[in-house]
Amino acid sequence: MNKIRRIELRSADLGEGMLVKRALPSRHQRMVGAWCFLDHAGPVNFAPGKGMHVGAHPHTALQTFTWLIDGEVLHKDSLGNELIIRPGQVNLMTAGHGIVHTEDSVVNGGRLHAAQLWIALPEELADCEPDFVHYPELPVWHSEGIQHTLLAGAYGDLEAPTAVHSAMLGMDLFSEQGGTVNLSLNPDFEYGFLPLTGQVNVQGETYTPDEFAYLEPGLNKLEMTLGTDSRVLLLGGLPFDAPVQMWWNFVGHSKEAIAQAQREWEQGGPRFGDVKDEISRTGVAARLTAPALPWK
Ligand code: MN
Repeated sequence: MNKIRRIELRSADLGEGMLVKRALPSRHQRMVGAWCFLDHAGPVNFAPGKGMHVGAHPHTALQTFTWLIDGEVLHKDSLGNELIIRPGQVNLMTAGHGIVHTEDSVVNGGRLHAAQLWIALPEELADCEPDFVHYPELPVWHSEGIQHTLLAGAYGDLEAPTAVHSAMLGMDLFSEQGGTVNLSLNPDFEYGFLPLTGQVNVQGETYTPDEFAYLEPGLNKLEMTLGTDSRVLLLGGLPFDAPVQMWWNFVGHSKEAIAQAQREWEQGGPRFGDVKDEISRTGVAARLTAPALPWK
């Protein structure tokens, strides 16, 4: 039986005191398939006047994948998209050559529970045109007291509508009363799972929302027992050719690609557009400042 590796999450600050738990990348595991970033936000009840407000920041060579479980978040980007994502929905933003976006709680003092993921684009698509798609509905089915939502990839006869570019899987499992499911896995895939609420028992061990579990390729089945009011995010994929480089909000297939993106962001060049902001004096959202590169 494959050994499951437990990876402790670390805390990260998105700004304005908005704390999240980061599962990927970790020094113990950088990616799961093409999934290269996983933040767990909430569940949180914001104090009056507080909410999530992430200012204008760029991305490159990745797709941001937002899975919203509770709350409402306004997405705005440099392509002119502006919409509210609601529970059960996915936003998939392809950065490619470059895109900028903002994310804001629709109301302050509300609730938020979300998984924020990034998918590394394969090298031949890393520089593609940016794109944004909102998916209001995903395949959902119920068995063994567990609600399954297919977020990405294929499972059995079902295929998620989300346009991804690597062989991969994303699935949300939720149970109110608790239940056991025997999942079919692809033995060529590596997998990871993250409890989002409650607890899950796998191979006789219990996992809670503070830990991410990593499974090497080679498994074709996985039995999972969810406790009451438990939710688990399952990720999988063909191991990526080589781990991508990551710095701040940039992904790249070389350090030079990231350094170049950072230079162009700092210079305010045309590569990265602007996000409209009617309230701001300039008419566009102020750009966040990138931290200095960690390499010379
Ligand atoms: Mn972002």
